[in-house]
Amino acid sequence: MRLWAVVENGQPLQCVEVEDPKPQGSEVVVEVSHCGVCHSDLHFWKGTYDLGNGNILKITDRGVTLPRAPGHEVLGKVVAVGPDATGVAVGDRRIVYPWIGCGNCARCKAGEDNLCDKQASVGVVRHGGFGSHVVVPHPRYLFAYGDLDPAVATTFSCSGITVYSAIRKLGDLDPDRPVLLVGAGGLGLAAISMLQALGHRHIIAVDISEAKRQAALDAGAEAAIDGTDANVVAAVVEAAGGLVPAAIDFVNNGKTASMALDCLSRGGRLVLVGVAGGDFSLSTAGMIFRPRSIIGSATGSQQDLRDVLKLAQAGKLKPIPVTVMPKDDANAALMKLKAGEATGRLVLEGA
Ligand SMILES: [Zn+2]
Ligand SMILES: [Zn+2]
Repeated sequence: MRLWAVVENGQPLQCVEVEDPKPQGSEVVVEVSHCGVCHSDLHFWKGTYDLGNGNILKITDRGVTLPRAPGHEVLGKVVAVGPDATGVAVGDRRIVYPWIGCGNCARCKAGEDNLCDKQASVGVVRHGGFGSHVVVPHPRYLFAYGDLDPAVATTFSCSGITVYSAIRKLGDLDPDRPVLLVGAGGLGLAAISMLQALGHRHIIAVDISEAKRQAALDAGAEAAIDGTDANVVAAVVEAAGGLVPAAIDFVNNGKTASMALDCLSRGGRLVLVGVAGGDFSLSTAGMIFRPRSIIGSATGSQQDLRDVLKLAQAGKLKPIPVTVMPKDDANAALMKLKAGEATGRLVLEGA
């Protein structure tokens, strides 16, 4: 088994050979054919998260040991199954649900491993799709994807369910009411496609990159506002015809989250998704005079993945733009994402 692994945070990934995994119990080994490159991989590579107020969280404080292959948008072929693994056979092609928990708590038993307190995620705590193989502890983490394009289907296990889960948290929203999206990178474009699949047609995007604003417009956003504008809030209000009832922040630094909160109307909901990090000050009385909710959202559940696959298989989910690169270009892919040069999703191909 070959890994493009983070050996030292902030340094180029190294190609590391480790022993081929032999599945025990209910474990399943998947040979990776596709792996999406996500901003979380970039944070993992960097090794730190900004918690705001000067506090830094290190990945090594989250139970991570190095070297570790990142990559959590994984799809591939089953090549070995443990003696207790049922319902899956060698040769099956599957999407890996990467947000694996302890498997025993109430959250995990409800298929909400993403909310488990003992995370053992693929590409974080266990080796991910930047390696040639991924081991999952149980076949329940594997999902069939029929005849969908694997380079697109592989993005469902993070970007697909993350946007779907965030949109669900907006509650029952009239499809004719405006939705504000902050960030038009991989997740922002996936959100536009998902909102459209769910009938929404009044989408406003904010991004600091002109290319990404154009990509948002091409994907069907009604307006795309420059995040570097002196008065972004006024521009959003003008484009939306008033304050908005719903916003999702895929960047989520102190500035963007505060801006998105300022764009909300009474009763509005802001869902925070990105991990750019930081903090902002909040007028507590202001939250009563103009009542709004701020909701944190981390990836999605196994049911979210089933729902996303159903939408895609029904032909309702327009595929996001995907750029395929060979697995051996893993470093170049990360640097492209870091430089903000990726439109849509970069997907590494091959084992
Ligand atoms: Zn991700
Ligand atoms: Zn659990």
